[in-house]
Amino acid sequence: GESAMSILDVEGVSKRFGGLWALHDVHVRVEPGTVVGLIGPNGSGKTTLLNVCNGVYAPSEGEVRLDGTPIRSGRPHRVAAAGVMRTFQDSRVFRTLTAMQNMRVPLLHSRVSEGEVRRRAWELLEFVHLTDHGNTAASELSGGQRKLLEFARALMPRPRLILMDEPLAGVHPEIKQLLTERIRAACDDGVSVVVVSHELPALLGVTDHVACLVEGRVLLTGEPAEVTGDSRVVEAYLGT
Ligand code: ADP
Repeated sequence: GESAMSILDVEGVSKRFGGLWALHDVHVRVEPGTVVGLIGPNGSGKTTLLNVCNGVYAPSEGEVRLDGTPIRSGRPHRVAAAGVMRTFQDSRVFRTLTAMQNMRVPLLHSRVSEGEVRRRAWELLEFVHLTDHGNTAASELSGGQRKLLEFARALMPRPRLILMDEPLAGVHPEIKQLLTERIRAACDDGVSVVVVSHELPALLGVTDHVACLVEGRVLLTGEPAEVTGDSRVVEAYLGT
């Protein structure tokens, strides 16, 4: 019931850019160890919501709480240190670094020992089937492999929550399958995930809940099949 505390609580968040309300009174909760899908047409506010959740933007109204504590904006590094990682639509891995070097980045200034960093990095590279590419420059990887690498890298500091922006877009079907399986596995291991995606069929298999944003408002939240099959959601997509 009400007893389980949310990892993430988006409480009445609005975000205004000049005259445009990119988000309007948005409420979203993420429970521990669950995957929440965020869908909606282009420009509906999905990326803005992720940016409010990791402290890039201050909400104009409302607040975002991480484990009950309000997130302070303008400090994404602090939010990361509190256990929130982020992946990007254009996979922001360091292209001139090898996969292994990329894996080390989130723990560079940590107290985790060199041996433990290496052990964990290899374990996670194996988890996303990149063991053979540990010494490959990220620029040599396929787009899908870079998405896998970015996800594995996000897991390095043992985050509580990962915010993923379009991890499945333009990815080869085999890698899409692997990535959705791995997102699910990380979740079953206790990590919570918010995933923005237009890939509705793939989301059906990986999410526990889906919220559909339209013009900055939550049109509908619920079970994945219920939301993606709703005629208002279908219409919102076809209308773009
Ligand atoms: P989505 O991720 O669903 O495609 P976005 O969150 O990127 O939507 O954008 C929502 C709306 O907010 C769009 O109209 C977009 O142009 C606007 N927007 C996003 N970021 C900014 C910004 N930094 N300044 C001004 N307008 C912005």
